[in-house]
Amino acid sequence: MKKKQTSSNFVTRFAPSPTGGLHVGHAYSALTAWRMCQQQGGRFLLRMEDIDVARCREEYVEDIYADLAWLDIKWEMPVRCQSEHFEDYQQALDRLKAMGFVYPCFCTRAEIKAEITRSPSAPHGPDGALYPGTCRHLGADKAASKAADGFAHAWRINVGAAQEYLQSDGRWPLVWHDELKGDQIAEPASLGDVVLARKDTPTSYHLAVTVDDNLQGISHVIRGEDLFHATHIHRLLQALLDLRVPKYHHHALLLDEMGKRFAKRDKALTIKAIRSRGGTVSEMINQYMFFGEREALSE
Ligand code: GLU
Repeated sequence: MKKKQTSSNFVTRFAPSPTGGLHVGHAYSALTAWRMCQQQGGRFLLRMEDIDVARCREEYVEDIYADLAWLDIKWEMPVRCQSEHFEDYQQALDRLKAMGFVYPCFCTRAEIKAEITRSPSAPHGPDGALYPGTCRHLGADKAASKAADGFAHAWRINVGAAQEYLQSDGRWPLVWHDELKGDQIAEPASLGDVVLARKDTPTSYHLAVTVDDNLQGISHVIRGEDLFHATHIHRLLQALLDLRVPKYHHHALLLDEMGKRFAKRDKALTIKAIRSRGGTVSEMINQYMFFGEREALSE
């Protein structure tokens, strides 16, 4: 495809989590971003979303570099590894704490599940039941005494309070743009009070991805449509933290012949397995990247 001149304002990224091998679905996502970037004459960045230090492994990081090289993707150095930047996420969290839009949550997974089961009318969002808000009104004294008693806690965003604040400030509704679906009105309440810092890690996917897309100057976030709804929360965080709002392109997910998403557990379909058995990139594209998407990705 012909390269457009200029447009070096186009900056995109591929942001894998090194918790397993990349599979053909990841390759599709990386190639989609890479090819759009090339068409625009833009910059392509790589970010390791390795905040889950217990599950991420150095060998997966090395495999990702080799997989992307095999796909003939070229990224700028240095690669941003989130585990090296916890202080950036801490700063963002501290700001939200000072604004009063986050609260400590002591609930265990089991307690949340039990609470949801008890209330059949519990609100649900696109990813299932929402956090029922148990710790939202705990109060500073009770929270402090629980923490003093050694109970671990996460930090959740109080979406309702944040929304009210933006409303009273004349900054509501928030809009974001998806290049495939058009303008979107942010509906962060549809995801509920998501976690911004986990009990075991001082951040979460939502907080780290939003902070990093801003810090890295990302103009276009190109990723699978499984993350479409998450963007409502990211847009809310951008408004609260005064961050730039990139354009989004949530591409359809690649499905296997059974109509199922590829998963990290399908070991035979990792890029590493395909390249180790001598497969080529065009064979992989022809074999798996079908269902209407082949045109877009064939040479
Ligand atoms: N780290 C996420 C994943 O591997 C992708 C995040 C994003 O592109 O925003 O699914």
